[in-house]
Amino acid sequence: KLVVPDYPTIPFIEGDGIGKDISLPSQRVIDAAVAKAYGDTKKITWKEVLAGEKAYHETGSYLPDETIEAFKEYLIGIKGPLQTPVGGGIRSLNVALRQTLDLYVCVRPVRWFKGVPSPIRYPSMVDMHIFRENTEDIYAGIEYMMGEEETKKFRDFLINEMGVDKIRFPESSSFGVKPISKDGSERLTKAAIEYAINRQLPSVTIVHKGNIMKFTEGAFKNWSYDLAETEFAEQTFTWRQYETLKKDKGELDANKALDEAKKAGKVIVKDCITDAFLQESLLHPWDHSVIATMNLNGDYVSDQLAAMVGGIGISPGANINYQSGYAIFEATHGTAPNIAGTGKANPGSLILSAVMMLEYMGWNLAAEHVYDAMEHVFAKRKVTSDLHAQMEGATLLSTSEFADAIIRNMH
Ligand code: ATP
Ligand code: MG
Repeated sequence: KLVVPDYPTIPFIEGDGIGKDISLPSQRVIDAAVAKAYGDTKKITWKEVLAGEKAYHETGSYLPDETIEAFKEYLIGIKGPLQTPVGGGIRSLNVALRQTLDLYVCVRPVRWFKGVPSPIRYPSMVDMHIFRENTEDIYAGIEYMMGEEETKKFRDFLINEMGVDKIRFPESSSFGVKPISKDGSERLTKAAIEYAINRQLPSVTIVHKGNIMKFTEGAFKNWSYDLAETEFAEQTFTWRQYETLKKDKGELDANKALDEAKKAGKVIVKDCITDAFLQESLLHPWDHSVIATMNLNGDYVSDQLAAMVGGIGISPGANINYQSGYAIFEATHGTAPNIAGTGKANPGSLILSAVMMLEYMGWNLAAEHVYDAMEHVFAKRKVTSDLHAQMEGATLLSTSEFADAIIRNMH
């Protein structure tokens, strides 16, 4: 288990664009909540580390080694959005950080604040937690753009060596490789199931397209079920077990077993095909609690679910390696250069990411102070410009006024 000192140092990357607007106000909110919860028996020391534009100006590198070292030394860190440098061989700073620290889970809780506009009918029923695999899948970056000759060679290889019998394969084509590993699937699902158990959440939904991609997404589903049924045999009941029971003993017995599992507080592990899930989660969000999925699905699902509860301005996230403990909490939105420096940015996403950080540290009381205060501010319909535009009669606050309002509403 994670041991956090009472006076931890937390490295932070301010971030580019609106990162500069939201970082310090977010820290003020967190400091106030920690003080409220623990007096002076606990306190965070924030240590700025450089990345992005600012790092480039000061050190000539977009992601200096000292920054990586600081995250390793202090284990837990937080970051604002970073602009991906154009050219220079870096695909994305965010990806580079995740890969270096092997942060294999991206956690995104999706909860609704009363008063925040939502496109769905029962937003108060939304309580979902996305566990997106962060290191594999088609996002691993193994892609090829092939010329005529290479395409032909590759086609011959597929037909002659791999037994592919029919494939439409014009002269020039591009390819991507989709690696899905057993241990990559297992560590993701393990994290999702443990999270559900610890928080007493009712279910884990494995979201996949295994009906089409049988050996990648299908394998993910099977490995996830295998893990639930072995390592978490006592704490879970799976749909696969339900189906087997139904086949062997009939529907009545299967239903009885499912009911008993629910009564015993077991986590129900189920699966859902991605396209169906995108419908399902809009129509019946209450049927899904923790969502375990691969990288690409997770990307799509994260933005859709964020839109259900107010959009990217208030959607937090974290990238975590539950084995080493390394964790970086981050705003999920980009640098929004169009509003940088105007006081229009919503610091909510970064503040809620910091709330996740407090929870990860076990500082739950401080986390609750921030969360409850934010609930009050939204209920009073005091919001930043992103939400103001959609809320008639709401009061418009600037980035730092919104942070101050949260601090004032800590009771
Ligand atoms: P990047 O290139 O870094 O992704 P971006 O402008 O595309 O930058 P996104 O996060 O994709 O940033 O955001 C798209 C738009 O959503 C922004 O241009 C901005 O208008 C709005 N937006 C994003 N984050 C916030 C926020 N925290 N507060 C208010 N508006 C935001
Ligand atoms: Mg963007």
